[in-house]
Amino acid sequence: MSRWTAVMYSETQNENGTYNTRCLYCFMTVATAVETKEDLELIEAHHVCPERALSELLAAKAATEAHAHRN
Ligand SMILES: [Zn+2]
Repeated sequence: MSRWTAVMYSETQNENGTYNTRCLYCFMTVATAVETKEDLELIEAHHVCPERALSELLAAKAATEAHAHRN
């Protein structure tokens, strides 16, 4: 889970020590000026990504169609 999060978000740190995070799937800024890494991970975990949901839907559809072709 933590590995997946690391891949999915681009985290940057501000001069005052707070963090920003941006989703690499939909390029939405998920949070800005978050004070701790713990809060950052919590916010990332709650991001419902429209792009990721779409890609998972397409992957599931492709898998279903591939299965249908085999039968
Ligand atoms: Zn996203």
